[in-house]
Amino acid sequence: MTSPRPSDEWLEPGVFEVVKDVFRIPLPLPNDALRAVNVYLLKGASGLVCIDSGWSLPESRERLVRCLTSLECGPEDIERFLVTHVHRDHYTQAIALRREHRTKVSLGAGERPALEELRRPGYSGLQRRTQELRRNGAHEVADRFYRERAGQPGPTASDWELPDDWLTGGDVVRAADRTLAVIETPGHTRGHVVFHDAERCLLFAGDHVLPTITPSIGFEVVPSPDPLGDFLRSLARVRQLPDAMLLPAHGPVVPSAHARIDELVDHHGRRLDNSLAALRAGADTAYEVALQLKWTRRELSFDELDLFNQSLAVSETAAHLVLLEAQGRARLSHEDEVNKFAAV
Ligand SMILES: [Zn+2]
Repeated sequence: MTSPRPSDEWLEPGVFEVVKDVFRIPLPLPNDALRAVNVYLLKGASGLVCIDSGWSLPESRERLVRCLTSLECGPEDIERFLVTHVHRDHYTQAIALRREHRTKVSLGAGERPALEELRRPGYSGLQRRTQELRRNGAHEVADRFYRERAGQPGPTASDWELPDDWLTGGDVVRAADRTLAVIETPGHTRGHVVFHDAERCLLFAGDHVLPTITPSIGFEVVPSPDPLGDFLRSLARVRQLPDAMLLPAHGPVVPSAHARIDELVDHHGRRLDNSLAALRAGADTAYEVALQLKWTRRELSFDELDLFNQSLAVSETAAHLVLLEAQGRARLSHEDEVNKFAAV
């Protein structure tokens, strides 16, 4: 038997007490590069509160119930889900459990346009996705995306029911005998929020600050005009809070949110510089810039990524070019409905 690599230890099934009465429960994400999502269970005299919920799939539900049983409770004991953002690995299990147990579900108010779009009859994520790829000059990726995905079922309306209430920045939530401040952190999604327990120095960060990977930027149902600018402003906002232990949705708990924020800011600073260098070398669309960059910590070329990650890479590169334009370092023009960029 081989022991797991240290970087994979956080994926091990179980219930892990991070600090007293705060439990990390990794739930499985089949067929997903992220591999697992951490939900955090807060236990208090008044009951249980869960931060994020997992993807509504039978194996995720079974794991959650088993973990709750080991704490001598069940899903009916969860009073409320505080969900960091609308992505399905965070939101949909809360909605499924609410149907059975009337659990209250709370979500950032900035996610409302995304949910309304997902619920709109006739919504096609594929159409939206391929249009965006074409706008970024990635016609070849769009064609392959269309061939692979056409005919697949669209979103399931029941996954995307509205929450019971909307959270906004400055809200203070009483949850399982503790006080959590709601901080708006748009970037990964427009309505992303994190929860800060100042008294115990804990940051429930969702996907805003991840310890070993960078969250995707610019990949969402109703994208922001400047998702990377939003994200960097959100990092700065959280960096102004007192430092806290980082409790991320994907990856292990680490001691300092500030240290990781500094690394993320550096990372995007380098990516901005590299994107600008690619423009200077003649690339003029997000697609052409993406071809010149290296991807993931393994420094892969664009062609080595799978199709889904190629489409993420194009969105991410577009977000960098848009920010370069906002910073006055690049100029945007439109040609045949394609966004063209040039270094200034
Ligand atoms: Zn996630």
